[in-house]
Amino acid sequence: MNEYDSDRIFDLAKKINYQKTEKLEEADCYVLNTCHIREKATEKVYHDIGRVKKKFRNKKKPIIIVAGCVAQAEGDVLLKKEKYIDALVGPQSYHQLNEIISKIEKDFGRINFTEFEVIEKFDSLNVVESSKNNISAYLTIQEGCDKFCKFCVVPYTRGAEFSRSINEIVSECKHLVDSGSREITLLGQNVNAYSFKGKKLSNLINEISKIKDLKRIRYTTSHPIDFSNDLIEIYKNSEKLMPLIHLPVQSGSDKILQSMNRKHTIKDYLNLIYKLKKTNPAIKFSSDFIIGYPGETDGDFNDTLTLLKEVGFINSYSFIFSPRPGTPAAKMKLVDNKLAKERLLVFQKKANEIKINYRKSLYNKKVCVLFENQTKNKNKFFGRDEYLNSVIVDSSYDLKGKIKETIISKANQNTLFGEIYQKKMNNIFAA
Ligand code: SF4
Repeated sequence: MNEYDSDRIFDLAKKINYQKTEKLEEADCYVLNTCHIREKATEKVYHDIGRVKKKFRNKKKPIIIVAGCVAQAEGDVLLKKEKYIDALVGPQSYHQLNEIISKIEKDFGRINFTEFEVIEKFDSLNVVESSKNNISAYLTIQEGCDKFCKFCVVPYTRGAEFSRSINEIVSECKHLVDSGSREITLLGQNVNAYSFKGKKLSNLINEISKIKDLKRIRYTTSHPIDFSNDLIEIYKNSEKLMPLIHLPVQSGSDKILQSMNRKHTIKDYLNLIYKLKKTNPAIKFSSDFIIGYPGETDGDFNDTLTLLKEVGFINSYSFIFSPRPGTPAAKMKLVDNKLAKERLLVFQKKANEIKINYRKSLYNKKVCVLFENQTKNKNKFFGRDEYLNSVIVDSSYDLKGKIKETIISKANQNTLFGEIYQKKMNNIFAA
């Protein structure tokens, strides 16, 4: 979502004649768009500003704006601690960026814009041109969260759940497709909680599926309790909806899930997986896991390992629990760090084994790849298959934007390598 937000921030700044530069020492304005999900996010902001300060030691200071969730969460503390910062802009206020820049240019003093004005934000952004012509593009459809998992800052930094109007989204989607995008990933902190005037995510997917040149649709991130039957049902027939579902579970233990306030049990989760698989057996899953959540015993951790093996997630993103200031879990007693690290290693070893076996199972198989760009090596093209696996092939033809059946011949940790499938027809080869 931050990538999407950063693009929009740049779209806005273009309107007041700012351009992107790779020459960091020449920039007039820095916007640090921050994420508060990961550990040490605030320290990273101070560190990055320190690097800018060094570059400008003997020059006029550039404008420094801290945007995003760290600005929202830390607020005045950031301004107090780091005098080099000119303004803070929360994730729901960055549509006011140009006004903020102009105030700083006119020396109006330091500014803190961290209000939740989400409707106003999307109204302002709707008229903004998209800056990128990516084959695969992001589109925010929903923001915020009402779930209040005890470890998470999102409800405090992005605010309550808000869904954009279907018309707005469809028109932005058409614009992206007209600019060359062939795949859209619909974004939301709770994307499957999308709800606008009685229309749900399934309605929205059906609506954008009608856009002719849009070939692939994805969405992330889903909460298991918002996976309604209508959403499950569209996996039966939708040709454009990709069969990889990212479904964070966080833990395999009911006790820990309850302590996290996740609002579902492992039985609910497995039932959902079962229903989805029954609807479309091609569906595969990826997930997020927190290891060493406060109160996690060996037994709870083993339940997480059991779940990992049972579902066979093709990608598992795992982290040791780290407290976020202001969240209820931050006040809970931590699991011993050495033990948490040991558990993480065990978990990641198993997750990796599952991933490697899955990737090996693709050898000599046909996968459908949407090619996104040419690599630095001019005869190689990079794309992704339906399950988001990175694939590289040799080709002397321009494959950008094309979907091709590809035979996988080898793989390393992150990438599959293959050849474009050539169909033999009456002794004539057709690509
Ligand atoms: S559902 Fe996701 S975004 Fe919402 S509080 Fe829980 S972890 Fe955070």
